[in-house]
Amino acid sequence: MDKSIRQKEFADRLTIWNCKRSLYSGRVLVVLFPVLGGLNLLLVKSEVMAYWVVLLIEEIIQMAALQIFQFEVKTDTQGILSIAYKLYYALTMLGLLVLSVLEYRQSGSLLLLIGIMTYYVVVPVLSRKEQMVSAYGILVLAVPYCIAVSDLGIRAIVDSAVVLCAAAVLGRFSQDNMRYKEKLKNELKEKTISAETDVLTGLMNRLGLEKQIEYLWPFCTRTNSPVGIIEIDIDFFKKYNDKFGHPEGDICLKKVAGVLQESARRSSDIAVRIGGEEFVVFVQNMSEKEIIKFALRIRDKIEELKIPHAWDEVSKYVTVSMGAAYIYPNNTNNFQQLYEHADKALYKAKRNGRNCVVFGDLVYGKKKDEMEAIPCKASE
Ligand code: GH3
Ligand code: MG
Ligand code: MG
Repeated sequence: MDKSIRQKEFADRLTIWNCKRSLYSGRVLVVLFPVLGGLNLLLVKSEVMAYWVVLLIEEIIQMAALQIFQFEVKTDTQGILSIAYKLYYALTMLGLLVLSVLEYRQSGSLLLLIGIMTYYVVVPVLSRKEQMVSAYGILVLAVPYCIAVSDLGIRAIVDSAVVLCAAAVLGRFSQDNMRYKEKLKNELKEKTISAETDVLTGLMNRLGLEKQIEYLWPFCTRTNSPVGIIEIDIDFFKKYNDKFGHPEGDICLKKVAGVLQESARRSSDIAVRIGGEEFVVFVQNMSEKEIIKFALRIRDKIEELKIPHAWDEVSKYVTVSMGAAYIYPNNTNNFQQLYEHADKALYKAKRNGRNCVVFGDLVYGKKKDEMEAIPCKASE
């Protein structure tokens, strides 16, 4: 994956992650502000108007934030998110700062609000840089503000500064930690994808299919759904390579893979390059007839690519032979058996003139009405 796309994906994930944290913190604060107000009424019986106004504004901000973030996180849209949570963070911090001073002036207690501010610095809803700037910005703003508008003692100011600095460092540490984990997860995901992807065609490879089958087989057993495979092999591909060269052969493989990828449109369809010029399309919940029709459509599409062939015994163009089979998975059968059925059918398709589909002992695609089958001439 392109590096800039990866960075964008990472930034998007970070935004959603930050939004979720804002959502959680909003949930906490929306309850905490009324509690704070209640305590104030009970213990101090505050009559400072500014205190109540700021408290009310903060409560409204938290409620609005909850609505916005809940909607955005649920719908997973990026929209205005990155601006929204930064604005939310700034307004909350500002409100808390004013509240902390007002609270101190009334009750002499700074602990609770410093605790909340600490929480806000520790919760890294901003990028590392923004977080450091905001933490130190608060310090720079807070100290003269405290001195100017209140009679905070020097000890209280120093204590607050120490707590904020420690919180900023902790916040940075936790953000680093989160980024590191996220990076490891991404790397692991990429490695898994590349190990299960065919480099030339971009289709899933044999290992990928085996991994999928590991959980699909028991799943289809439980749901009693039939599964089918179509094994596809390019006709006389050795001759194609011999005439046009290996690089041209690779281009041909990519084109055929493109048709398979395009045809395997249902989310449960899996197109795989098994190796060399052999492919498999794995399907679920299709009847025998549907599988044959599907295979014939793929065969036609490949011939319609009109890739000139070196060997015109079958067609002027590159063609494929197909062997199809299907089975109801249960505890007594396995994918290997299904694969062997398809393999035998493919062998018969080769023996019956290629450029056709074989299912069981019948050859399809040889007559004008494609679904009209003729018995295999050679069954072994
Ligand atoms: P048949 O119709 O019976 O399938 O004949 P065939 O020539 O297609 O089959 P055979 O198995 O004899 O040859 C397969 C050829 O596929 C041989 C090899 O050169 C070619 N091949 C396998 N992998 C690749 C690849 O990655 N790139 C290219 N260009 N060719 C490949
Ligand atoms: Mg082959
Ligand atoms: Mg072949």
